[in-house]
Amino acid sequence: AAAGPGRPRSGPLALLGPAPGAPSCPHGPTLLFVKTSQGKEEGRRFYACSACRDRKDCNFFQWEDEKVSEIRLAAREEYNRNHQPPFTHRQNVDRYKNFVLLPLSKRRFCQECQQLLLPAEWEKHSAHQCLCDVTTAQLKSPSQLLYPLENKKTNAQYLFADRSCQFLLNLLVDLGFRRVLSVGTPRLHEMIQSRASQEEFSVRSLLLDIDFRYSQFYTEDEFCHYNMFNHHFFGGEAARETCRKFLYEENGERAIMVTDPPFGGLVEALASSFKKLMAMWKETEKEGHDNKEMPVFWIFPYFFESRILDFFPSFSMMDYQVDYDNHALYKHGKTGRRQSPVRIFTNLTPSMIVLPEEEGYRFCTVCQRYVSSGNQHCEICNSCTSKDGRRWKHCVLCKKCVKPSWFHCNNCNCCTLQKHSCEKTEVGCFVCGKAGHKRSACPSLS
Ligand code: SAH
Ligand code: ZN
Ligand code: ZN
Ligand code: ZN
Ligand code: ZN
Repeated sequence: AAAGPGRPRSGPLALLGPAPGAPSCPHGPTLLFVKTSQGKEEGRRFYACSACRDRKDCNFFQWEDEKVSEIRLAAREEYNRNHQPPFTHRQNVDRYKNFVLLPLSKRRFCQECQQLLLPAEWEKHSAHQCLCDVTTAQLKSPSQLLYPLENKKTNAQYLFADRSCQFLLNLLVDLGFRRVLSVGTPRLHEMIQSRASQEEFSVRSLLLDIDFRYSQFYTEDEFCHYNMFNHHFFGGEAARETCRKFLYEENGERAIMVTDPPFGGLVEALASSFKKLMAMWKETEKEGHDNKEMPVFWIFPYFFESRILDFFPSFSMMDYQVDYDNHALYKHGKTGRRQSPVRIFTNLTPSMIVLPEEEGYRFCTVCQRYVSSGNQHCEICNSCTSKDGRRWKHCVLCKKCVKPSWFHCNNCNCCTLQKHSCEKTEVGCFVCGKAGHKRSACPSLS
């Protein structure tokens, strides 16, 4: 247990960022946090896991100014060692090689352990639910074979609907990219890999993901176990070097990073890691890149727009609605009622991002970008202002366009939901960054 008063239980936390010399948990270096109240830092700073926000998943905790005894340090190191996956990536690659040599009738996948089994291991898993006759096609679609992780707070996996994944890949190919750094996009990676194995297809992908189950299906040149909240390569310098080499654009093969992180906050931690990956790209070729940035697609909900632009002023948000297979809310429903709030943020020129006209997107010649069908060009704002795909209305008092469901409140002196309490909070909302409401009442989430 930690010394001093108990660890902060709940409430808003501010991330103070990756700190040099931060202690490590099984998920790599921890991040420094502080509890906040009314926008002010309050109390002692502490280190906590970068990847898990639920204590049940990783209960690392240490006050910043806490003295940690040698005994505890040793115990912690031992704990971190014991909480690594049972097989190394290398071992998994060898296991895979043996697995594909097996006849179909001997290819089993344990659904409980989420592991490919070799015949000698069957007995140990005899009480477990197993999938038999694992085909080559199944091995090439691990995102279908593995169940999506569902832990809301730590690692909820929302897989692209086939249509969105196809769209993304075709877009990347049309834009001339030949290398895709897939950060938390296993399904896109998988689509690239399987196309490359079937036809003449010159695009390559490297998957960086914290989900180590994927190491069973990909070699060290195809997958790195990576934590995008602290830029930690679990495979150490060798894995980092794999990534660096991948980003080195030999023979004019242009690279792009595509990422679809978990949505729950910590935008600054993600931004800091992405900046490091972008720096890695820049360092690969001193001469050629001048002042250019590595091209990026950051896939994230539209209500994070201002947060993302704070960190990446060169980015803009595209209207394309990214659809998911296993997300009840974000599916492009049969009724067309549910609209996905997830968008593509990119530092590429918006006019280059061609959106499918058959899905209703059109090109606005004034804005020089593709927009949703419902997104009307506002003459006063001189821009296509809708963020959510619905037609927005201009408010002369706010001097901007707002959601159709909003009205102008003279008390608050701004447009907001009809149902709201007129109390102002000074601090910006944790989700959208705007003042006037707290995270729990964020209109973006409603
Ligand atoms: N739509 C994507 C999946 C996005 S879900 C697709 O279909 O390919 C978020 C992904 O990020 C998951 O693959 C998850 O394993 C990964 N992820 C979650 N936390 C992570 C972390 N801390 N570091 C790296 N990857 C992480
Ligand atoms: Zn098992
Ligand atoms: Zn326009
Ligand atoms: Zn307007
Ligand atoms: Zn208004």
